[in-house]
Amino acid sequence: MDNPVRAAILEAMRTDSDILIAGGGLNGPALALALASGGFSVTIVDAQPLETLTDSDFDGRAYALALASTRMLSALGIWDRVAADSQPILDIIASDGRAGEGAAPWTLHFDHRELEEGPMGHMLEDRYLRRALLAAIAAHPRITHLSGAKVVAQSTDGAGAEITLADGRVLRGSLLVGCDGRDSGTARRAGIGRHGWGYDQTGLVSAIAHDKPHGGIAHQFFMPSGPLGILPLPGNRCSIVWAVETARAERITGLSDAEYLGELRPAFGDFLGGIRLEGARFAYPLKLTIADSFIAPRLALVGDAAHGMHPLAGQGLNMGLRDVAALAEVLVLARRRGEDVASPLVLERYQQWRRFDTLAMAGATEGINRLFSNDNPLLRAGRDIGLGLVNALPGLRRGLMRQAAGLTGDLPVLMQGRAI
Ligand SMILES: Cc1cc2nc3c(=O)[nH]c(=O)nc-3n(C[C@H](O)[C@H](O)[C@H](O)COP(=O)(O)OP(=O)(O)OC[C@H]3O[C@@H](n4cnc5c(N)ncnc54)[C@H](O)[C@@H]3O)c2cc1C
Repeated sequence: MDNPVRAAILEAMRTDSDILIAGGGLNGPALALALASGGFSVTIVDAQPLETLTDSDFDGRAYALALASTRMLSALGIWDRVAADSQPILDIIASDGRAGEGAAPWTLHFDHRELEEGPMGHMLEDRYLRRALLAAIAAHPRITHLSGAKVVAQSTDGAGAEITLADGRVLRGSLLVGCDGRDSGTARRAGIGRHGWGYDQTGLVSAIAHDKPHGGIAHQFFMPSGPLGILPLPGNRCSIVWAVETARAERITGLSDAEYLGELRPAFGDFLGGIRLEGARFAYPLKLTIADSFIAPRLALVGDAAHGMHPLAGQGLNMGLRDVAALAEVLVLARRRGEDVASPLVLERYQQWRRFDTLAMAGATEGINRLFSNDNPLLRAGRDIGLGLVNALPGLRRGLMRQAAGLTGDLPVLMQGRAI
C-alpha cells in the first residue's frame, strides 16, 4: 500500500464481528440466525443485490424440507412466517417406471399415518423461504447483512480471518464460514480441493399446475434415463425435479413451453389429469462434489460449499441445514466453555459430526441412482422385488420413513426444535 490516505480509509472501512459468512443464499442466512441467537455478532455478505434475492415472483423452485428441517426453522422463528404457504408431504410413493408404461406393479409406499411425529416433511417455495430468512436477518441486532458485496480475497492468521470485498472493504472476524455454493471461492482460496463426478444428467426443475388434487402425495418415478420427482405444492400444483441425460436435457431446454410439456407428459402420466407449466424452467447439471475437508485454519464450509449431490433424495438443502445446526451448536457450546471458537479442536468437532454423515448420504444416493437409472432387465426385476420387499417389511419401511424425515442419526438440538 503506497498511499497512506487510501490505507487510512480502508482501515476506517474495516468491520469486525465474531463470525464472517461468505454467501447469503439459504444456508448462510440460516447460519447467521442460529449463531446470532447464540450470542455471536455476525456479518454475512452476498454478491447478489438485495432486489434479486428478495424478488417475490414464483420462479418455479421449491424445496422438500424434512421434518427435522422444519423443526429447526421453528426454533429459529422462521417456520411461523412460512407455514401457511407450505404443503405437508403426507405420503411418498416410489416406483420403478418406464416412459409410456406408467409405474411398475411394485411400489414403495410411505404413509404418514405410520409415523407418530406426523408428515415426513413439507414442500416450500424458494421465494417464501428466502424472503423469511432475509427479513429475519435484517431484523436481528447482531447481524450485519451486506448484499451486492462480492468477496474477492481472504486470509487467516493465528488471531482471526479477514475477507476483502470487491469495493475494497475489509472485514475481520474470528472465523470465516463459506456458504458460497457449489463453486465455493472460500474453499478454493483456502486450498481445499473437491472430489466427485458428473452424472451426465441434468435436473430440469419447474412447477406444474394440474387438474386433479395431489392429496399431499410425493411421487418418485425411477425412469431408466433418471428419476422424476413429483412433489406436491399448495393447491393443484406440484414441483418437478426431472433428471434426464444431459444431451437430451439440452434439447428439451431449447423447446417452447408447449413442446416441453409434450416431452414431460409420457413420463409424468395422466394420474393428475391435464398439466400446465407454472413459473420458470430451470436446468442445472447434476454432479457429486464433496470438499476434501469441511474445515481449514479459522475456516469452515457449510451447505453446497461443502457438498453437492444428486437431488433424487431431495436432501440438498436438508443436508445444508444439518451442517448449519451442527456448526452453530459446536460454536455456541465452545464459546460457553470459554474456548477459542475457531481453534482446530473445535472445528474438528464440526467436521467429525458432518463429514461421515455426508459421505454416507452421498453413497446411498449414488447407489440408488445407479441401480435405478438403467434399463437392464435383470436389475429392473431385482429392484422391483427390492421395492416390494421393503414395502412388505413395516419395521424397515418405518426406519426409512424416519430417515426421510431427517430424524435419524446424531441430531443437533436445533433439529430437535430446541434452542441451543
Ligand atoms: C436452479 C436450481 C434449482 C434447484 N432446485 C432445488 C430443488 O428443487 N430442491 C432442492 O432440494 N434443491 C434444489 N436446488 C439446490 C438448492 O438450491 C441448494 O442445495 C441450496 O440452495 C444450497 O444453498 P447454499 O446456501 O448452500 O448455496 P447457494 O444457494 O448456492 O448460495 C450461495 C450464495 O453465495 C453467494 N456467493 C457466491 N460467491 C460469492 C462471493 N465471492 N462473494 C459473495 N457471495 C458469493 C451467491 O450469490 C449465493 O447467493 C436447486 C438449485 C438450483 C441452482
